[in-house]
Amino acid sequence: MQHQHKLLFILLSFFFLSACSVQPKVDEFSAVDGQLDLTAWNVKEETIPLNGQWEFYWKQLLDPADFNQPMDQSQSIQLPGVWSTHSINGEPLPKVGYATYRLHVSIDKIDEVLSLRIPAIHSNYTIWIDDKLLTKTGKVSINEIESVPQKYPKVIDFLPKNHTFTVTLQVSNFHYVTGGLPEPITFGTSENIHNQYFKRSVLQAFMLGILVLAGVYHIGLGIYRRTESYFFYFGAFCLLVALRSLMIGDVFFTKMFPHFNWELAMKLDYIILYSHVPLIAMVLYRLYREEMSRFITRICTIIPVIFDVFTIFTTAKIYPLFTMYFQFFMLICVVYAGFIIVKIVKRKQKETYYLLTGFGVLMVTSIGEIFGNLLGLPETNLLVIGISVFVVCFSLVISRRLSYSLKLSEKLAWDLTQLNNELETKVEQRTQQIKQSHKQLEELNNKLKEMALVDGLTNIPNRRSFDEYFDVHFQKCQFENKPISVLLVDIDYFKKYNDYYGHQMGDQCLKLVAQTLNENQEGLVARYGGEEFVCVLPYQNQAAAKEIAQRLNRKIEQLEIPHEKSPISKHVTISIGLATMIPDQTTNKKELLKQADQALYHAKEIGRNQAVSFTP
Ligand code: GH3
Ligand code: MG
Ligand code: MG
Repeated sequence: MQHQHKLLFILLSFFFLSACSVQPKVDEFSAVDGQLDLTAWNVKEETIPLNGQWEFYWKQLLDPADFNQPMDQSQSIQLPGVWSTHSINGEPLPKVGYATYRLHVSIDKIDEVLSLRIPAIHSNYTIWIDDKLLTKTGKVSINEIESVPQKYPKVIDFLPKNHTFTVTLQVSNFHYVTGGLPEPITFGTSENIHNQYFKRSVLQAFMLGILVLAGVYHIGLGIYRRTESYFFYFGAFCLLVALRSLMIGDVFFTKMFPHFNWELAMKLDYIILYSHVPLIAMVLYRLYREEMSRFITRICTIIPVIFDVFTIFTTAKIYPLFTMYFQFFMLICVVYAGFIIVKIVKRKQKETYYLLTGFGVLMVTSIGEIFGNLLGLPETNLLVIGISVFVVCFSLVISRRLSYSLKLSEKLAWDLTQLNNELETKVEQRTQQIKQSHKQLEELNNKLKEMALVDGLTNIPNRRSFDEYFDVHFQKCQFENKPISVLLVDIDYFKKYNDYYGHQMGDQCLKLVAQTLNENQEGLVARYGGEEFVCVLPYQNQAAAKEIAQRLNRKIEQLEIPHEKSPISKHVTISIGLATMIPDQTTNKKELLKQADQALYHAKEIGRNQAVSFTP
C-alpha cells in the first residue's frame, strides 16, 4: 500500500514538472531597434518568440504602404509588454490608445511555409507580413466607438519571398485595462508551430476531460448523497476550473463562440477565477470541520462575492485593476490552506500523500501565477495544471473515503448476515430444546395423571378411579333405570399371611390377587384400601353379579398361593360381599356400598372363602 502511494506521488510530481517546463535559451536571439537576426537560428529545429525591441509608432495606424514614404525616426518598445509601462519623452503612455509595431526578421534561406502564433493581444489587431495583410482580430480603430475588442489567439502561415520579412502590427485598445502584447508572438516553421499548438490543445483537452469528468461525477454523487455536500462543491469546483481553462491560453471558448460578447467573456473569466476560493473552502470545511474555522470559511465566501459584484457592475477597464488585491487575498488563503493541510496530515495518516501532492502542486502553481501576474509576466496555463493535479489528488482522497465507507458497509452487512445465521441456528436449537422439554413435560403429565388414577403397588385402578367410575355409572343406571352391582373383596387372614411370610411376600400376594380380580370381571376393579378391593358391575343384576363373584372366588383359590396360617384353607382365599340395586331418586351409592360391606361382614361370619349377597 505504501509503495503505491509513493509511486503515485512520483508520477504526479513528474507530470507536474514536465508540464511546467518552459523553453529556455532564446535570450541571445532578441530584436534590437526593430531588427531581429535569426540567420544563426535553426528555424527548422525549434520555434522562437519574437521578443526584443520592435519599432513603435504611437498614435499612428500605419500599413506597409505607408513605409514606402520617408518616415520620422521611430521609437522602439520592448516586447512582450503592455505600452502603459513605456514612456515617450519622459511621459508614460496611457492605458488606452493605438499604435503600430514593426519588426524586420532575417533568416537563413528556407523553402518551407512559416508560421506565427499570435497570442491574446489587447484588445484587437491587424497584421501584415511584408505588404500582405494576413489577419485581423476585432477592429483596430483610433476611437472607442469604432474599436471592437476580441480575444482570439491565432496561428497564421506565410511564405517569405526573401531572406528577410517584415511584420507590421496595428493594435488599438479602448476597452481593456492595458493595451499591447503581454505575451510573445512565436515564430517557426508551420509544422513546428502547428505541432506545438496541437500539443498545447491536447494538454488542454486532456485537462478539460479530467475536470469535466471529475466535475460531473462528483456533482452526481453530491445529488445522490445530500449528507456529504462536499461532493457537490468539489464537482462544481472542477467544472468551474474546466470552464476557466477554456478562457485562457489558446482560448477554446472564443473559438467555439466567436461572436460571444467580449465584455461578457472577460467578466466570466474574472468571476470564475474569484469563485475558485469559496468552493474549495467549502469542500475543505465540509471534509475537515475539526481543522477548518467556520469564520474563515465565511470570509472565503464573502470576499469573492464582493469581487464578483464589483466585476459585474464595472467594465474591463476597471475591475482587472483590483484583481491584484484578490490575488493577495488568494495568497493568504493558500497559506491558510497549507496550514490546514499540515493539521490534517498530522491527524490522518492515510490521506497524507494525496493531500500533500495535490496541495503542494496547487500552492506552487498558484503562487507562481500570482507573482507572475503581479510582475506582469505573460498569462500561462500554470494554475490550470496545478488545479488539475489538485483535482486528481483530491478525487483520490474522496475515492478513498468512499471506498472506505463501502468497505465498512460491506463488513457490517457481512457481520449482520453472520449474526443472522447464528441467530437462526440458535433459534432452531432453542426450538428443539423447547420441543424436547414439551414432550418430556407431556410424558410427565401423562404419568402424573396415571399415578393419580392407578394404584402404585398393584397397578390396578385406585380408590379415586373407583369413585369417578362408580359415580358416573351409578348415575347412568339411575337415569336408564338399570341394575348396578358392587362386590367388596377382602383377603382372608391376611394379617396372619403378612406375619408369617413377611411384608414383601404380602405385597406380591396383593399384586397377584389384584391382577386376577382385574382379569375376571366385566366392570371395574379397584384397590379399595389395604387388602380390600372393590368391583363395580354396571347393568349386572344380582344373579349375574353372584356368578361373577363366585368365579372370582374360584380363580383366587386356583392361584394356590400357599397360606400356612389360614385356618380355613392351605391357600389364599377371599371373601366377597355383594349388593345390587336399580337406583332411583331415593337411593344413593353410599347405601349400595354399605349393603355390600354388610354382606362381606356376613361372609366372614359364616366361614369366609365365599360370596354372600346382601339381604335386608
Ligand atoms: P380377616 O380374615 O378377618 O379379614 O382378617 P385379616 O387379618 O385379613 O384382617 P385385618 O384387618 O385384621 O388385617 C389386615 C392386614 O392387611 C393388616 C395389614 O398388615 C395388612 N395389609 C394392609 N395393607 C397392606 C399392604 O399394602 N401390604 C401388606 N403386605 N400388608 C398389608
Ligand atoms: Mg380387611
Ligand atoms: Mg382380611
